[in-house]
Amino acid sequence: MGTTAVEETEKDEGRILSAAMEIGCVALWDNIDRTVDRRSQYRRLYPMRQAITGYHRDEEHHWVAQLACGHNQHVRHDPPWQNRPWVTTVEGRREMLGFELDCKKCDQGAPADHQPPSLSRESD
Ligand SMILES: [Zn+2]
Repeated sequence: MGTTAVEETEKDEGRILSAAMEIGCVALWDNIDRTVDRRSQYRRLYPMRQAITGYHRDEEHHWVAQLACGHNQHVRHDPPWQNRPWVTTVEGRREMLGFELDCKKCDQGAPADHQPPSLSRESD
C-alpha cells in the first residue's frame, strides 16, 4: 500500500512547520495553512517576538533593527513620541542585540525584508 495524497500532504506540512519554527517566522506556515485553529495554536506556541540581530539606517538616517525572522523594524528615538535613547549609542545598540521585539510583519506573513550588512558596531 502506497501513501495517500493526504498523508503526503501532512508529511509536507510537518516539514514546512519545523522549518518555520526554526526561523521563528509564521510566513512559511501561512503558505500552507490558513485555518484559524492551527494558526492560533501556532501563535500560542510561537508568539511573534523576534530577536534583534543587527541594525542599519534608512535613507533618512533612522535606525532600523534587523530581526531574526528576516524582517526589519524601525527603532526610532523621536521624543516625546518614541523614546529609545539606547538606539542613539553604539553601546545601547549592542546591549539590545538579542532583545525581542513584536514583529507585526510576521503576524501578517509578510515576505522577508532586505537586510544590509549590520552597522551595530558603527558609532554615531
Ligand atoms: Zn518578522
